Amino acid sequence: MAATGTKKRAAPTQATVRRILYIICVIIAVGVTLYNRNHTVVQTVQPVDGEMQIYFIDVVQADCELIVCGDHSVLVDGGEAATAADVLKRINDLGIKKLDCIVATHPHADHIGGLPYILDNIEVGEVLMPKLTKKNIPTTRTYEKFLTSLANNGAKAVRATPGDTHVYGDIRFQILSPVFEQTEGLNNMSIVFRMEYGETSFLFTGDAEKQVERELVSTGSTLKCDVLKVGHHGSATSSTEEFISAVAPRYAFIECGDGTPSHPHRQTLDRLAAVGAQVYRTDLNGTIILTTDGKNITVTTEK
Ligand SMILES: [Zn+2]
Repeated sequence: MAATGTKKRAAPTQATVRRILYIICVIIAVGVTLYNRNHTVVQTVQPVDGEMQIYFIDVVQADCELIVCGDHSVLVDGGEAATAADVLKRINDLGIKKLDCIVATHPHADHIGGLPYILDNIEVGEVLMPKLTKKNIPTTRTYEKFLTSLANNGAKAVRATPGDTHVYGDIRFQILSPVFEQTEGLNNMSIVFRMEYGETSFLFTGDAEKQVERELVSTGSTLKCDVLKVGHHGSATSSTEEFISAVAPRYAFIECGDGTPSHPHRQTLDRLAAVGAQVYRTDLNGTIILTTDGKNITVTTEK
């Protein structure tokens, strides 16, 4: 009886252990699924009809934004060469087979360094570039590689001219700058453009500095926007008080890397705070994805 009694007590114990193990497995499986689901939501927000996504891709101390709307896409800058494979992977993961346009805002390595790799590996319709003069045309290896890859790709090279409108499906934007024919430093040759989608508006500024901002404000360009890609990685060379007041963004995006104390500069952050902008930074938030249906804007971050 004693032995039977022992057996009787042992049997439920094994069953309980099995049950507990089963529950642990279920908890782990559900946890992994939820984690993946959360992760997936941020990693690949698949384009939906009637929506636009803008990816502010984390390329450390550099610029790279991807605009996706339906079957159309525009890449604004490509970061440095070191992160180009990550950028291309993101483009591929979204199922994009062809970029309608690449906006190469200005020929500095933190904007065009990654573009040769992108141009070598995907079909591109056209590449928008600022017009450069003999005086400011770069002689860097990066620029040479960019021109070679552009020629090999077969994409059409198009000069960005203020006032021109570029349309790719529902992606539509107007060029505001380069306002100067020629100026000190390539940053001020940056392509600046304003995009509208439904009732929402966006301003992309490359690395344009104070001189360009002042010119845009004084010539009465339409600057007011819901979203601003903050100029020159948030440094104090850009984001004058007048410019930030004129744009008055609800959302501001700064592409910058860890460990560069002046990017973004305190003064820039204060000015954005003064107009009530919600600030997102790739150094703190990783890649940031903005989604809009033309009316509402939502933002998700990887960090
Ligand atoms: Zn830059």
